[in-house]
Amino acid sequence: MAAPKVAVVGAGVVGLSTALCVADAFPACSLAVLAERFTPSTTSDVAAGMLIPHTAPGTPIHVQKQWFKETFTHLFAISNSAEASEAGIHLVSGWQVFKSTPGEELPFWSDVVLGFRTMSEAELQKFPQHRYGQAFTTLKCDCPPYLLWMEKRLKAKGVQMYTRKVANLWELHSEYDIVVNCAGIGAHQLVGDQQLFPVRGQVLKVHAPWVKNFVRDGDGLTYIYPGISRVTLGGTREKESWSLSPDPSTSKDIFGRCCSLEPSLQAAQDVKVQVGLRPSRASVRLQREVWSQGGAKLLVVHNYGHGSGGFSMHWGTAKEAAQLVGECIAALQDSSSRAKL
Ligand code: FAD
Repeated sequence: MAAPKVAVVGAGVVGLSTALCVADAFPACSLAVLAERFTPSTTSDVAAGMLIPHTAPGTPIHVQKQWFKETFTHLFAISNSAEASEAGIHLVSGWQVFKSTPGEELPFWSDVVLGFRTMSEAELQKFPQHRYGQAFTTLKCDCPPYLLWMEKRLKAKGVQMYTRKVANLWELHSEYDIVVNCAGIGAHQLVGDQQLFPVRGQVLKVHAPWVKNFVRDGDGLTYIYPGISRVTLGGTREKESWSLSPDPSTSKDIFGRCCSLEPSLQAAQDVKVQVGLRPSRASVRLQREVWSQGGAKLLVVHNYGHGSGGFSMHWGTAKEAAQLVGECIAALQDSSSRAKL
């Protein structure tokens, strides 16, 4: 059988990481990434890129923990390598603060991040409106550099990159044996998934190099995430809003909320506003399907719907998607050897 031809649709954090896992696991495949948009124009470029998971109600906690752990381990190794600054991956320490003690004191990811502990009274004095807090060290991706670094690694492995809008996955059946759908919110239209909905997020990216620690309000709405070159200030979570236009009054509100957590941000400069649509559903869709039409077949693997946690979970889900691609390759080999009998 000829080497299987595989197309990954999507070049956000999910598509690029999935393509890397497929290229590593099945080097004999001919692999291409097709996307309407590449970095710096994807939702993944807007994200803060913090490794702090959100709980998806439709996925068992042990599975979410496994995905997070695999992602954390993978990025921690990069952060400890000479590639760290080009890949935009670094460790960051800080605080998650609450106005009252949360019902669940230990999040499921507390033993994956480093040094998770309850904040001391002395630390809490920095946040007079908050009564309880957790301190820990986690990882952060500076998103455009990380995406660019993954693209570079894919090209070095001979993976082709094409700018192309796919109207229907079926249009790829004459060119590819297997299609991996990593279209993020684009899957709503591409495969008509009505369970997928946008959660709009608006953030500010500012120059404030003196801010070295992250601060996250426990409600998840207000956050300050320092990166290598800029600090991300957030945010909003607007369910079912498809608008990509920045709203000036929302920017003012975000800035005010962040300054009340970290007053020195009043001196921040060069404020840039960005908006992205989190591809949300009750659970990530990681699934294998066989599509057939008039005797022709297309093997499809879905990997989308990461909501607020695409960076936190991407390597774990990419590895699982690559396993599903492996099952598709085995099915192709099986049907080709049966055809020869
Ligand atoms: P995308 O990045 O949207 O990529 C989808 C790709 O598919 C693009 O290349 C697109 O062009 C392509 N595509 C779509 N439709 C088609 C089509 N028909 N034909 C061809 N190509 C197509 N997550 C975290 O873990 N940590 C954070 O700190 C964090 N902060 C965030 C802050 C904000 C404001 C927002 C909006 C999100 C944040 N997220 C965060 C969530 C994270 O951004 C997403 O989960 C993640 O980017 C989803 O990645 P993706 O690759 O699935 O989608």
